[in-house]
Amino acid sequence: MKKEKTDIRSWDKEALRQFFVDNGEQAFRGNQVYEWLWKKGAHNFDDMTNLSMSTRAFLEEHFVINHIQVDDMQRSNDGTIKNAVKLHDGLTVESVLIPTATRTTACVSSQVGCSLNCAFCATARLKRMRNLNPDEIYDQVVAIDAQSRAYHHMPLSNIVFMGMGEPLMNYKNVLKSIEKITGEEGLNMSPKRITLSTSGVPKMIKKLADDQPKFNLALSLHSAIDSKRTQIMPFNEQFPLSDIKEALKYWYDQTGTRVTYEYVVWKGINDTEEDVHELVKFCKVIPCKVNIIEYNSIDDPRFEQASSQAIQMYQNALEKNRIIVNVRRSRGKDIDAACGQLANKK
Ligand code: SAH
Repeated sequence: MKKEKTDIRSWDKEALRQFFVDNGEQAFRGNQVYEWLWKKGAHNFDDMTNLSMSTRAFLEEHFVINHIQVDDMQRSNDGTIKNAVKLHDGLTVESVLIPTATRTTACVSSQVGCSLNCAFCATARLKRMRNLNPDEIYDQVVAIDAQSRAYHHMPLSNIVFMGMGEPLMNYKNVLKSIEKITGEEGLNMSPKRITLSTSGVPKMIKKLADDQPKFNLALSLHSAIDSKRTQIMPFNEQFPLSDIKEALKYWYDQTGTRVTYEYVVWKGINDTEEDVHELVKFCKVIPCKVNIIEYNSIDDPRFEQASSQAIQMYQNALEKNRIIVNVRRSRGKDIDAACGQLANKK
């Protein structure tokens, strides 16, 4: 049986250097290959023009360079671009470019599908199929950076891990991808412009705190009342708010950085004074900021965007308690590219 070739980007620089030494060549060849793979984004060994033909052929014998392919690109009338990204094994994820006048944000996926079952999220309808590799996350960013330059005449400025999947359930690969995205040998982007969004896995929030990341953390809260949160985010049963609070305190002790809470207000679900009151209480656990995001319909009659009065009630209460709050409008809804709408419809 033919041995399957290794994805060369699963190897770090040291391993590549050692590979060359083991095969009677000089270690610095490993550095050259590494630079081609990450910084220069080579798609083929033949692009590596400072290597001899025989070295290129030798690499070809042992390795493959798995690259994502943007299969389909939809453009919204507000400038948002949604990509259907085909992976080497034929599976598809989605990634989005969200432009504003002064910046562009990439929304990237971390898993194919998702194992969490948030009732209001379209991705939940796809079972989790697998984790993305670091290079598959990195390539989404590279592709969106190119689109940002081509369509919006500026380099990509921000990245949010708010596409498909739960990034803290693909911890190692997500962190590796960020290392490459922020590294000098990769894209050299500032970690301060990256936000990882989690539905709230307490153990992993603590682990992340221990790893002292330089990027931002967001938590999808949606309700500060356990019984309600469990209704819309069933895994809350296993990871109740008391555990999340404890993890958040640990996070703040270790990192000293505030967390952003994402919050959608739905009619008849979390639009009462009690909901507001509990959120205000939750916001006093550690320094934080609240993003009230618009609900993007996924055609489920149980969920409907709350009235503007309800949103105003949240905003007033938070402001009165000196908690930073932003009310966000969605982008790219006409092409199902907004938060929670990524479901490989096409
Ligand atoms: N699993 C991670 C990241 C992906 S979801 C997380 O839960 O944070 C990205 C954000 O979109 C989350 O805040 C999520 O709660 C929100 N979201 C999901 N479905 C949505 C919908 N239909 N409308 C608006 N936001 C939604």
